[in-house]
Amino acid sequence: CGIVGYIGKRDVAPLLLEGLQRLEYRGYDSAGIVVSSPKSAALKMVKAKGRVRDLEAKVPARFKGTTGIAHTRWATHGAPSDVNAHPHMSADDKVAVVHNGIIDNASDLRRKLEADGVEFLSDTDTEVLTHLVARAGAEKLEDKVREALRVVEGTYGIAVMHADFPDRIVVARNGSPVVLGIGEKEMFVASDIAALVTHTRQIVTLDDGEMATLKADDFRTYTTEGTRTSAEPTTVEWEA
Ligand code: GLU
Repeated sequence: CGIVGYIGKRDVAPLLLEGLQRLEYRGYDSAGIVVSSPKSAALKMVKAKGRVRDLEAKVPARFKGTTGIAHTRWATHGAPSDVNAHPHMSADDKVAVVHNGIIDNASDLRRKLEADGVEFLSDTDTEVLTHLVARAGAEKLEDKVREALRVVEGTYGIAVMHADFPDRIVVARNGSPVVLGIGEKEMFVASDIAALVTHTRQIVTLDDGEMATLKADDFRTYTTEGTRTSAEPTTVEWEA
């Protein structure tokens, strides 16, 4: 339902929780957050059924990081619960995915992955994405995500973090909105500009079939096939 992500220098958890609160008006049943820091690229995750303030109450004091993604979920596949909340992480704790939309062929993909020995933790359609990215043979994170998306049918706005690629967040859009917020040595992503406008008015809206890589001081957009696309930020007017 709602996605917020950030890469930069600021303490990311409070920033993302505030962003989630700005998306609360859309409705949701659970929320979650994953962060990492340059000191420890390991992903730290907290999820909670209920309100953003229930999630906030579960976030430990030392939940420090400068890169993170967060989500408010409106369940389509699997009941609202702590485990079904996003992000979803791979068994080796390296890949984290938040997802808006519906993966139509999720049960088919799940059956294949399970036959291959993958253990699923949740009942969501989203979790297949996590395992597909984690198992992708490609070297670069962008190519791993592309490889995963190639077998996926349905709608998605996704944001992906990977412990082996701590300098970036990779996002993709197909039928579910993704906007980038361009800052000074910091970048934002969200499903809705409402989550971004307190931080930046420089916005890039992804098209369907488009992906982006966000780094603290740089971003680029390209098609799912890998062709670079032009992305001049536009300045949005917004009454806060
Ligand atoms: N289909 C996903 C799920 O049920 C995402 C739902 C959403 O857009 O929040 O977990």
